[in-house]
Amino acid sequence: MTDLVGLVSRELERMVQENTFKYETPLESPQDGVVRVRGKKVVMLASNNYLGLSNHPAVRKAAIRGIKDYGYGVASVRFICGTQSIHLALEKKIAKFLGTEDAILFSSCWAANEAFFAAITNDAMGETTYRDAIYSDRLNHASIIDGQRLCRAETADRKIYAHASVDDLARQLAEDAEKGYRVRIIATDGVFSMEGDLAPLDRLVEVAREHHAILFVDDSHGVGVCGKSGRGTPEARNVHGKIDILTGTLGKAIGGAAGGYIAGKKEIIEFMRQRGRTYLFSNSLPPAIVYGASAALTLLMEDRSIVKRLHKNTSYFRKEIAGLGFRIIDGEHPIVPIMLGDASVAQDMSSALLKAGVYIKGLWYPVVPKGEARLRAQISAALSKKDIDRALEAFEEVGKKMHLPGRK
Ligand SMILES: *Cc1c(COP(=O)(O)O)cnc(C)c1O
Repeated sequence: MTDLVGLVSRELERMVQENTFKYETPLESPQDGVVRVRGKKVVMLASNNYLGLSNHPAVRKAAIRGIKDYGYGVASVRFICGTQSIHLALEKKIAKFLGTEDAILFSSCWAANEAFFAAITNDAMGETTYRDAIYSDRLNHASIIDGQRLCRAETADRKIYAHASVDDLARQLAEDAEKGYRVRIIATDGVFSMEGDLAPLDRLVEVAREHHAILFVDDSHGVGVCGKSGRGTPEARNVHGKIDILTGTLGKAIGGAAGGYIAGKKEIIEFMRQRGRTYLFSNSLPPAIVYGASAALTLLMEDRSIVKRLHKNTSYFRKEIAGLGFRIIDGEHPIVPIMLGDASVAQDMSSALLKAGVYIKGLWYPVVPKGEARLRAQISAALSKKDIDRALEAFEEVGKKMHLPGRK
């Protein structure tokens, strides 16, 4: 028998050698604009807490009330005895916010994506012979990729199109036009997390319509973030209410705790309740999270100033960091990749910045292409101008000390 401990130990050692080992830095405080690390307050530029709701007083209070009103846990899946009236109310609220007929909750967006593709393509739905096809953006999130891996090869063809290339997608759809597929699904992230770029949803909606395909968008980094009212990438691209299937997380802008959803036409949502395996066989969301997420959505819908502050903070940081001579990927999203090239530079700079009072993480090969190592800043509405200025000063100081390449 193989010595498993020996086997994984060698693999772990290899990860350390290859610089792919992930070290965790524990926070000694709630997630917020400023957090405590090793006894010191540092400006947080690495979280998905875009709206600053993860430690917002109204969200905290709601979560505590969730426990008071509905207890700690439900100890069941939804269809046995795990549906409380608050789950249904939150689903209606998400649907209303996104402009869809209905929505269904999952314990995470990962679980939502794992449910969707297999539920559709693995089910004959009365047909004797059928094949479905999925067209997936090359840079889609791991949960979309894994969700598609659960589709049986006998009934589903999985295809990849070049990142954000509507032309490549349209070409493949046209080539396959006579193949007699039952259902064709186009799958894309709304916002891609490595570059912070938005999918061309306006054009994808057109291409989907033209080729009678279904458009699936995972808007985890878009919901609460993009668009004037935070309704997500579809709002930013003027196609709000026109996406067939929207999935997303409640674990980023919408409170940052946990939970995910699929939103769309009511028949499709009902079908997911009947066939979505991570819905059927995994626990229902706890009341504290249901209440917290609901409070986050209420804040977002009633107080436009939160999204506005996020957008203002984002454009301020983008302008100033570029002004310091750092090369960034242009865009509009609070994900701001600061390009450094070399992995070791990104690593050293991330450590030096932590010492200087800024928490930011580096990304390097194999997460991004070789030679494109970067620090990924994520801006939040939780940051005050003073926090952002403090971070910028640290960038300037560390950048000078390190004689950084890519600086003017
Ligand atoms: C973060 C993210 C997820 C995972 O969401 P969870 O709710 O944490 O499972 C899924 N898809 C995309 C595109 C994401 O960015």
